[in-house]
Order: sequence, then C-alpha cells, then structure tokens
Amino acid sequence: MTKDLKELLRQLPAVDQLLGRPEVEQLLSEHPRSIVVEKVRAVVDGARQGLLARVSQAGAPGAGEEVPGTGKDREGELPWWKELLEVSALTAKVRAEVLEAGKRHLRPVINATGVVLHTNLGRAVLGQAALEAVQDVARGYSNLELDLVSGDRGSRYSHVEDLLRRLTGAEAAMVVNNNAAAVLLALSTMASGREVVVSRGQLVEIGGAFRVPDVMAQSGCILKEVGTTNKTHLRDYNQAVNEQTGLFLKVHTSNYRVVGFTREVSLAELVELGSKLGIPVMDDLGSGFLVDLKKYGIGDEPTVQASIAAGADVVTFSGDKLLGGTQAGIIAGKGRYIQAMKKHPLTRAVRIDKLSLAALEATLREYLDESRAVTNIPTLRMLTMPLEELDSRARELAERVKAFVAEAAVVEVADDYSQVGGGAMPLTMLATKVVKIKPLASPVQAWARLLRQGEPAVIVRIQDDRLILDPRTLMAGEMELVAEALSKISTHYYQGVGL
Ligand SMILES: *Cc1c(COP(=O)(O)O)cnc(C)c1O
Repeated sequence: MTKDLKELLRQLPAVDQLLGRPEVEQLLSEHPRSIVVEKVRAVVDGARQGLLARVSQAGAPGAGEEVPGTGKDREGELPWWKELLEVSALTAKVRAEVLEAGKRHLRPVINATGVVLHTNLGRAVLGQAALEAVQDVARGYSNLELDLVSGDRGSRYSHVEDLLRRLTGAEAAMVVNNNAAAVLLALSTMASGREVVVSRGQLVEIGGAFRVPDVMAQSGCILKEVGTTNKTHLRDYNQAVNEQTGLFLKVHTSNYRVVGFTREVSLAELVELGSKLGIPVMDDLGSGFLVDLKKYGIGDEPTVQASIAAGADVVTFSGDKLLGGTQAGIIAGKGRYIQAMKKHPLTRAVRIDKLSLAALEATLREYLDESRAVTNIPTLRMLTMPLEELDSRARELAERVKAFVAEAAVVEVADDYSQVGGGAMPLTMLATKVVKIKPLASPVQAWARLLRQGEPAVIVRIQDDRLILDPRTLMAGEMELVAEALSKISTHYYQGVGL
C-alpha cells in the first residue's frame, strides 16, 4: 500500500462521524436506526472499496493532483478521491438509500396492459363499497364471530352465507382463503380415501402450481381418469364407477380450450348419472361469475347459478377473478356437504381473514342489483366498457402523451383487443382502442423498463416495437400519471440519460 493510499483511507469519515452529521441525524429522526446505521456502513464501505479499486487500476493518486489550496486540479475538477471522500456526497448517498429502503415494497402500480384480471398485478380491483368495508373492519373491532342478537359465539360465514344463497340459489355456502383451498377442502371432505372420477380433458394446471392431479393427491383422494384429452363420454364415467367411487368432479378448463373434434359431458348429464348411482357431483368453476356476461356480448360461459340449477352438489369458485372481489374461495351447494366442510379440521388452516370477508360481503351486496354490480364493481365495469368510451379515453390519452413526447416518438390511436386475464375466457377478445407509441431513436424495451421502474410504476405491453397502452384498465386519474411518466422518459431521451 502506498503512503498516499493510506493517507486517503485515513481521510474516509468514520461511521460515527457520519451518524453525527445533521443530515443523517435528520434521517435518524424519521427512519429506523438499524436501517440508517446499515446504510451508513454500506456507503462508507463502498467508498473504501471504490478507493482501493481506483488505486489498483490507476496506481497511487497522481493524475488530477490538487492545486495547493484550491481543492481543485488544474482542469478545475475535484480530484477523484475527493469525490469519494466528500462528506456531503456520502450523506446524500446514505439519504437516497435510506429513502429507498423506507418505501413500501408492495405498492400500487398502473396497469396499462388492458388485461383486466392480471394475476401478477393483483387480479381484481376492489370497488368503493369494498374499500370502505375493509377500512371499517380493519380500524377497530368487529362482530366477526359474535352473534349480536343472542350474544353467543357466531360464525364468520354468517356474514356472507345468506347473500351467497340468495345470489347462487344454493342451499348453503361458505368461504375459505382461495379457490385452491376450496377445492382441496371440498375433495378432502367429500371423497378422501375414495376414487374421484375426472375427464382427462379436465386435468388442468391453472398456474401458480394448482394442478388437479396434485390437489387430488393432497386431499387423499384417488384420481380416476376417464376418457381422452379431446373426448369424454357419459359411458366413460359410468364404466369407471365401482364401490370405491366417491365423487364425480368437473373442472372448468379456465385458461385453455380444446377445439375441433371434442366432446365434454355436460354438468346436467353428470348430475343425472350421479343421482342414479348415488354419487355426488362437484363443479370447480374456477372463475365463477354471478352476472351472465353473454348478455353483454362477453364470452360464452355458465354462471354459478346455472351450475347450482343443473344440480351440482358442490360448486367452487374464486372471489378475485370475474366476481371482482377479494382473494377468496367460495363453496356453494347442498347443506349436508357444506356443514361437513365447516367441521373439517382443514377448514381452520384455510380460513378466510376478516379483511377479505369484509370486502367480499360488500362486493356480493352489489350483485343484489345487477345494474349496480356492472357499474360499481371495477372488473365488470372494465369488461363491459363500451367501445365509444374506450375510443374517447384513448384519444384523450394520446393527446396528453403527444404533448409531452412529440419529438421523441410517434403516437397514434389504433384498434386492438384487451384480455380478460386471470385464466378466464382465454379465447375472448374484447375489442378496444389503444394508444401506440413508437420511440424514434431509443429501444422500446428501454421505455418500458423506465416506465416500470418509475414512481408510480406503469406496466405496458410491447408489440412490434411499440408501447401499447390500453385505457380499459386505467383507473380514474391515471391517464395524467401515465402522460407524466412518459414525459419524464422523453426528457431522459433528450438528455441522453439512462437509455
Ligand atoms: C383459478 C382456478 C383455481 C384456483 O383458484 P384461486 O382462487 O387462484 O386459488 C382452481 N380451479 C380453477 C378451475 C381455476 O380456474
């Protein structure tokens, strides 16, 4: 080690010295001490490593030598080692790192992808009533498990069971943590140790490791596959039945479709066979919905009501897919099965929490009046948004964006399609109007990255070297934020920074 380097390392401020600086004391008053101390240590250490690295590259300091008494070298620059040692630069770095560490990790993002139920972006967005219900229940105590009339212990399911009975037509209902848990609980309760007959065309993987054969194994049921990938007949179910058979399971193939030479046994046929042979039928609908979306020209999917009416003994579906509520697994069906599930030991392990329950109740209440549901539940509002509205939103967004990025990109409104998402209705193309942005000189991926890393993060699609912004999934007030985010990027672009 040269004498000069030793001297430089000695000049490096000590951790305690930095902690005593007023800027850092200010940080200490607003942030956890452990975080501030950790960041000070890291910054001092980084400066030390920086010094060592520069010296090993360039030899001992020499070039850029300080002109005595000025603090600057002959070109008027600070010698590089001063930059590394300067207390104000070090404290600024500490401040930046502490602020970054203090940001909440889970935070809102702007979804400009047009995928309404985006699994990576938290699926369904809650409506106003649900938000208020969550706040009310979260900020104080609640009657979660207290019957206010009798004063006795109550059931957490009581808050939604009547609503679910009324909305689905089922005899009884309960809710658990998510639909994967609902399926696991229903199988465990209805057919553990026995054979469950499922069509080979319905042995699906939903994503996030929900695979029908694996859930079946977890529940202690024995999978009895029947039919083929594309065709399963009623006789296949019939022939599979023996004294071990505990259940017929129908699974909605949610995120894929087999088209062409296909045959699926309808729920009604399965129910008829089941009742003849004394075998219950369960229908895992996945993204069950309570409003017939066909009426709005969307998809061709059965409602939960239709499954119950067709005679399914138990129906399971998600709370945060097309229903537009919070993460939950809803189980509706015959009273004796639901009663048995409520008593099953697994139920405690998969029980729904009070905040989800509050949001779910408020969301279900909207369904009591279909027109309210379609207006007040964001998922339904986005799915049924008229093309004229999408068009005027796209034009407004394009105008705002053009004002900011005029020289840096070509901006146009174009026809495109939005997706339902959430593994639901994979073939349904929702006609929409999008804003396409083609950056002129910098890669489109760089724009997408800067948008994603900004505050707030904006998530977009990329297609044919263009950013695609779909106004369908933008919430109130977000157009302005998207335009601002793009303006920051085009400023970057002009200054040649970061791209
Ligand atoms: C989505 C889905 C599930 C899992 O539901 P989660 O609420 O995500 O746990 C189970 N079955 C089917 C058919 C699904 O579509």
